[in-house]
Amino acid sequence: MTHPLFDIGGRTALVTGSSRGIGLALARGLAEAGCTVVLNGRDPGRLAEAAARLPGTVHTAAFDVTDGPSVAAGIADVEERVGPLDILVNNAGMQLRSPLLEFTDSDWHRILDTNLTSAFLVGREAARGMTARGHGKIVNICSLQSEVARPGIAPYAATKGALKMLTKGMCADWGPHGVQVNGLGPGYIETELTRPLVDDPEFSAWVRRRTPAGRWGRTDDLVGGVLFLASPAADFVSGQILYVDGGMTSVL
Ligand code: NDP
Repeated sequence: MTHPLFDIGGRTALVTGSSRGIGLALARGLAEAGCTVVLNGRDPGRLAEAAARLPGTVHTAAFDVTDGPSVAAGIADVEERVGPLDILVNNAGMQLRSPLLEFTDSDWHRILDTNLTSAFLVGREAARGMTARGHGKIVNICSLQSEVARPGIAPYAATKGALKMLTKGMCADWGPHGVQVNGLGPGYIETELTRPLVDDPEFSAWVRRRTPAGRWGRTDDLVGGVLFLASPAADFVSGQILYVDGGMTSVL
């Protein structure tokens, strides 16, 4: 039996960037917990394939999270078609690895738009209804790079550090209206995004050595944290970043 504090059955949840990887695993977890889930990504075909693999009531909403008008239309469409949003997981993101001296202006703007502006745009549109109704949960997918930087990913770390502070700012603005906003910071998780790192034996071994848990993370490792932050058990938790990283951010 589910403790009432962890019961999120019947809630409506949107997970951005859920055509694959972490977003898809989080969407599956929310669906298994009884939520009506909305998958998002840019490719309608890929979203339909992903939706067919999930249990329960699953909807899709294809829109680009970096484009303001598309986001506003996308959220309005979801709320009309599926119902008011109770839970938003801002997960869509990308990584570009390159020495900072070689990083181009256009790549800088692309990674900022995808990892940071997207959370502002989708968060703002979802929070219009949530604050008016007086309840809602937003989880921003940050990173261990919200805390520490590594060579070759300074712009990525900058977006994730800023997302941490956006989380706290959203908590300050929307907390008085019943909306809790938190972040979840994954460690190194095996997905398409990290495929080149997983396939690099030296780097892969470095991750295992540096992680107290002694292994790479799996997408399912992140589900429990999001279910908690989306549940009534977290009604008095806001502005926090929960690192789910096998302990990596805690050790040198
Ligand atoms: P993937 O590359 O596997 O998946 C990224 C997802 O984001 C896809 O569903 C993609 O959908 C979607 N997406 C990208 N750009 C857009 C856009 N402009 N509009 C809508 N959707 C978009 O990445 P992961 O699953 O590994 O990462 C998910 C999140 O977790 C990211 O924010 C990432 O930074 C973060 N993270 C990942 C870690 C890891 O080790 N993997 C560690 C720490 C944080 P499509 O291409 O179909 O549009």
